[in-house]
Amino acid sequence: MSSDLHYKTATELTELLADKKLSSVELMKSVIDRTKAVDGRVKAFNSYDEKDALAQAKASDDRRARGLSAGPLDGIPVGLKDVIAVEGQPLTASSKMLANFVSPYDSTVTKKLKQAGAICWGRLNLDEFAMGSSTENSAFHTTRNPYDLERVPGGSSGGSAAAVSAGEAPLALGSDTGGSIRQPAALCNVVGMKPTYGLVSRYGLIAFASSLDQIGPFARSVDDAALLLGAIAGHDPLDSTSFKTEVPDYCLELAKRKGPWRLGIAKEYFGEGLDPEVGAAVQAAVEFYRKQGCEIKEVSLPHTEYALDVYYIIATAECSSNLARYDGIRYGHRSKEATDAIDIYFKSRAEGFGPEVKRRIILGTYVLSSGYYDAYYLRAQKVRTLIRQDFLDAYQSVDAILTPTSPTPAFKVGEKAANPLAMYLSDIYTIGVNLAGLPGISVPCGFSKSGLPIGLQVIGQPFKETELFAIARSYEQAHEWGSRLPAL
Ligand code: GLN
Repeated sequence: MSSDLHYKTATELTELLADKKLSSVELMKSVIDRTKAVDGRVKAFNSYDEKDALAQAKASDDRRARGLSAGPLDGIPVGLKDVIAVEGQPLTASSKMLANFVSPYDSTVTKKLKQAGAICWGRLNLDEFAMGSSTENSAFHTTRNPYDLERVPGGSSGGSAAAVSAGEAPLALGSDTGGSIRQPAALCNVVGMKPTYGLVSRYGLIAFASSLDQIGPFARSVDDAALLLGAIAGHDPLDSTSFKTEVPDYCLELAKRKGPWRLGIAKEYFGEGLDPEVGAAVQAAVEFYRKQGCEIKEVSLPHTEYALDVYYIIATAECSSNLARYDGIRYGHRSKEATDAIDIYFKSRAEGFGPEVKRRIILGTYVLSSGYYDAYYLRAQKVRTLIRQDFLDAYQSVDAILTPTSPTPAFKVGEKAANPLAMYLSDIYTIGVNLAGLPGISVPCGFSKSGLPIGLQVIGQPFKETELFAIARSYEQAHEWGSRLPAL
């Protein structure tokens, strides 16, 4: 790992803090300095509150001095995707609709972070309302890939991935509806993990597609991701879809799992559209596991070809319903031109939402409309069940499945902006995991000849996060691609 403070892993920082070789205020200052030095180019942040972050760091140092440290995350900064509510802080979803909105309450994950003593650090850019794969749909600015500023960081949690990659936060949270944590993690050479649906509370997460959305960690190592997940996971009575399950000490438990594992390769994930360099890097990872004594088995996920279509029916249907609340009446943007109540709805939504969000609302309204509901929405739900069943069938004979995270390395800013279908294909390998409600992780797995990061996706079984982390970590520890830092 790097000798720079701002590039240390949370696990390393925790030790320095515990040994009193470092104070949280010093750490926070170094992260702020780094952010000021690079964020003009990377543009990961929508906003940050320097004073507030330093006050949180000071409080952490005071706790530690009194012997009251709250645990391994105490004093460690965590950046938050700008869809996760922090009381008294801006919450914009990178949309004009919420440009001036300040959250009146904490999300459950925010509360848990605060209880763990972590510093809630800065609001990170995204595609508006988490709809996109490049952050180009942000109403404010496009975040840049730290490995090549002409390229996208991926999305929608591009700000979270870029911040961790560029040394602007040791940890960050994102949300993943169809790939929005794993795909940007792959493009920015960091670890990104989507938990099993129901493991992390969605209370206080701005909703995109509620049956798919999950909050999850970005980190510089698998151990760090496990540490952060442990802090935010667990049942929450405020989210009726949150699951009653024990949350183990992932870090402790994962270190005990050494394999060998039975790992599945699905041919459906290595077909047309896969960049040859990405394919080769993932094949090399498969060979690594084989040499470690893992049993590599071909598995079939025959309904994969429908995943993208099913996703763009279900996700848009749910988004059209979720985004109905932005009516210009109760909160958010209200048009100054409006003359009566109906006019407020129309004009506020016309002015407040960007083109991709409007496209999704229109598609979603269409698939839910009477006469089309059965043909689209209902059918998509049935195929969704088949997609989930494909995975469960495969898990009869394997412990996890290995795939590329993204079909290509980072693409150029503007390259796919005018072609929504090309953009949607960025998530071809991640979307099925959300439809099936499974956990998935992306770990750095090499670089293209032109120096762009490549990610390996490991897809796990429901609520078997410990196993998933252990499998990813066994690869990570033998390779350490993550320590190849961007030249910023
Ligand atoms: N890129 C996908 C979309 O645009 C997934 C986004 C996400 O996971 N939030 O819908």
